[in-house]
Order: sequence, then C-alpha cells, then structure tokens
Amino acid sequence: GLQCGIVGLPNVGKSTLFNALSSAKAEAANFPFCTIEPNVGIVTVPDDRLKVLEDLVDPKKVLPTVIEFVDIAGLVKGASKGEGLGNKFLANIREVDAILHVVRCFNDDNVVHVAGSVDPVFDKDVIDTELQFKDLESIDKRIQRLMKIAKSGDAAAKKELVVLEKYKTALEGGANARSVEADEDELKMIHDLSLLTIKPVIYVANVEEGAVHTGNDHVTALKEAVAAENAQVIMISASIEAQIAELEDEDEKEMFLEEYGLKESGLNRLIRASYALLELITYFTAGPQEVRAWTIKNGWKAPQAAGVIHTDFEKGFIKAEVIKIDDYKALKTEVAIKEAGKMAIEGKDYIVQDGDVMHFRFNV
Ligand code: GDP
Repeated sequence: GLQCGIVGLPNVGKSTLFNALSSAKAEAANFPFCTIEPNVGIVTVPDDRLKVLEDLVDPKKVLPTVIEFVDIAGLVKGASKGEGLGNKFLANIREVDAILHVVRCFNDDNVVHVAGSVDPVFDKDVIDTELQFKDLESIDKRIQRLMKIAKSGDAAAKKELVVLEKYKTALEGGANARSVEADEDELKMIHDLSLLTIKPVIYVANVEEGAVHTGNDHVTALKEAVAAENAQVIMISASIEAQIAELEDEDEKEMFLEEYGLKESGLNRLIRASYALLELITYFTAGPQEVRAWTIKNGWKAPQAAGVIHTDFEKGFIKAEVIKIDDYKALKTEVAIKEAGKMAIEGKDYIVQDGDVMHFRFNV
C-alpha cells in the first residue's frame, strides 16, 4: 500500500500522533487491520459516501479503504552525516510516498524542546537541511557519472546535466526540490533519484489545545516559511487527538469534539489530506455481500482500476457499468438509475472518477 511517513524533530508529538492514528483503526470494526510493524500502522480513510451506499444496499459488510502511516522517529541534526542512526531513518523516508512533517507549535514548559525554544521554522529547517544534504549527495553522484558521458558529446547527458545543476543550485540555497519549477521532461530525468525533498509534504502544526481554531504566531510563521513550496499546513492538537483516541464509543467522541467546537477529529482531516496528497481517489463497489471502497491513483483507466480488485478483472476486462454516487443518492435504486439513464457503460479507455460506483464485466 501507499505510505505516508511521519517525520520531525524529537519531542514534537510524532508518536502521540502516530499512536492516535493507529488506534483510530478501532472505528471500523470489520476490517482486518493490523499494525504491520511497531512503527507502521494501517488506518481507514473516513468517507461518508460509504454510509450512503450502506443505507441503500444493506450489505453484509462495509469495507472502507485504508492508508498506511510510518512513524519515522530519530531524525536529528547531523542525520545525513550518520548521527543518531541518521542513515537508517533517511532510508526509511526514501521508501515512503509522501511526508507528514510534524512541527512543534505548542508552548509547554514541561516538554523539553531539543533546541531550547519553540521555533517551528528553525525546526523545519533542521530537518529539511538533512534531507537536502542527502539529495545533494544523490545529485552529485549522478553529475559525476554524467560528466564522463557528456564529454564524449552525448546530447542527452548534457541536457540532463543542466537539469541536475538547476536542482543542485536550489538545494545548495536551502530550497527543497519540490519548490523547483520543472516541466514533465525534467521531472522524468530526475525521477529515479527518488529525491527526499521532492516528495509531496504536509506540514502538521501541532498546536496547544486552545489554539486549534485560531492558530498562533508559530503557525503564522510556519505558513509564511513554506509558502514557496506550495505545501499545505494542517493545524492539529496531538494531545486532543490522543484523548479522542482513548474514548471508546462514538457518542463520547462526538461530545468531546463538541466541547472543543470541532466538527470532526483532526486525524480525519489529516487522513483525508494525506490521501489527497498521494493523489489517490476512491471508487466503490456495492452489492448484497459487501459495499467497499477501493483506492486508485487519480487518472487510472477502468481496467487498471479493476485490477485493484483482482488481476483477472484487469486481464479479462470487457466493460464497466458506472453510476455516480450522487445519482445513487438521489435515485436510490438501480432500476430508477437505469430508467433515468444514469448508468453509463464505459470501455477500457474510461478514466475512473472519484466517487464512481463501478460494476465490472469481464471474461475469465
Ligand atoms: P516525538 O518525539 O516527536 O514522537 O514526540 P512525542 O509524541 O513522544 O511527544 C513528546 C512529548 O510532548 C510528550 O511528553 C507528549 O506528551 C508531549 N506532547 C505531544 N504533543 C503535545 C501537545 O499537543 N501538547 C502538549 N502540551 N504536549 C504534547
């Protein structure tokens, strides 16, 4: 599955958040969740549309889709030079598909700050610098290799060198690779370097309980600092989330949220934002046995989407019957949907849309 890595300096609230995330699994009891490894957790993606289908179809089971989170603890200043198991953690980051960068924006004298005072922009830069060092290493290695090839007059190598130099300059100037403007060709050239700072990121501003609505000066500073990266900043209170995670039943949770004037938990927001960050979308299947959400990448065609259910569905794909979830909601039954002409028959070139309810026809 696709993974989001949780990174940040020590003592910023990563474990608190991760633990809250991994106990959020309890919310949908009929899915075989697990914690794969102590630091990897699988979480359901909250989706109200499942309820719509459940009410209409009355299936035996409802299966939400999931996303994986990895707690990548231990990143400290000097990690790129091997400090504090640095290389191991950096290797972990290389494997994830997106990054949640947790930054301490809460004031609490009882919680020691590794650098002495709460300064999210400084903290973020410490982590970024380590990742940028690592990216520079990768780029330098590639440049060395290409220089030799370019000397013999290889045009492609020369072109690639120009692109690499552009990234190198940006990284040396303290920028993350994701903030470099590049076209599709350029991105292709550097794709297999798996740069750490090009991975999509959400900055998670961990604020004190009283600041979940308003934010604080730390959040404002952080937002300014990351504006150039086009990255989202999500405010969350890890301590609120930890308290919610401990509550057993849904009513209690709702009451707790209401006390804070919150419509939903920060974790739900964060999970959905992570899903979007990974450019994932959901389609549904609905029948008397089960209603189920399936995850695909935005832009996938119908056969590839069918392949998520079973490879045979992809190989033997003939057609897909597609109903938009909103039509389901409005018209309620398949008969009514068909009568209204709202069931489309799509072929192998159909690009599946978020919220499609799909029924595949295939050869075995
Ligand atoms: P990590 O090292 O980044 O994983 O940080 P932890 O999650 O272990 O948190 C470090 C300390 O900060 C713990 O004592 C937490 O209880 C505390 N902490 C985490 N989040 C918050 C928060 O939102 N508010 C306050 N006041 N303390 C927090």
